[in-house]
Amino acid sequence: MSRESKKFGVPDELANLYDFANTLDVRHFTHHGVLHPQGDELTQTRELAAWMAQRGLSLTGAKVTPAMLVAAIELRTLIRDYLQCDPLERSRNKDAVRALNKTLKFFPLVVTAANDGSMVLRSAREDALAGLSPIVAELYDGSGNGTLDRLKMCASDECRRVFFDRSKPSTRRWCMSSLCGNRMKTRSYRDRQRNAG
Ligand SMILES: [Zn+2]
Repeated sequence: MSRESKKFGVPDELANLYDFANTLDVRHFTHHGVLHPQGDELTQTRELAAWMAQRGLSLTGAKVTPAMLVAAIELRTLIRDYLQCDPLERSRNKDAVRALNKTLKFFPLVVTAANDGSMVLRSAREDALAGLSPIVAELYDGSGNGTLDRLKMCASDECRRVFFDRSKPSTRRWCMSSLCGNRMKTRSYRDRQRNAG
């Protein structure tokens, strides 16, 4: 769980998945005259290692190799592609499903009996990539309890931030209505005016 996930009310059970998807920041809108800077938190092996360590995901203490960084980025790309689909469309988007399944094979999980008597999913890997398995387990748990349908990508082209929809009907399209929603509404209003004129 991170400060961001807490601030936006993301359930703890999805916090790693939320944070991981948002390690890529492609926002490029101007707010109060300032252009939001884009960024990627995972451009080097040591950044991935540090990111996992910060969240207690360095389960093995093993080294992150360049090939592992590539696998991590691939996982992030495909999770973002999947979350970009409307929840009702996700099962029908065969390309997104196929691509995601292909990469999920690199993050196998096993059922393990925990100390508290519960059963949990743990990584079957024993190298550094085991640290990303909790993210895959969150996908699984979230799909089981329905919360994954509330994890969406902002509909604004200039944003594409993954957000958790806390609205009752679960119909939100923007990460922040006051920002992305308004910007898009203002633009379509302007477009309509232009077309009408
Ligand atoms: Zn947004």
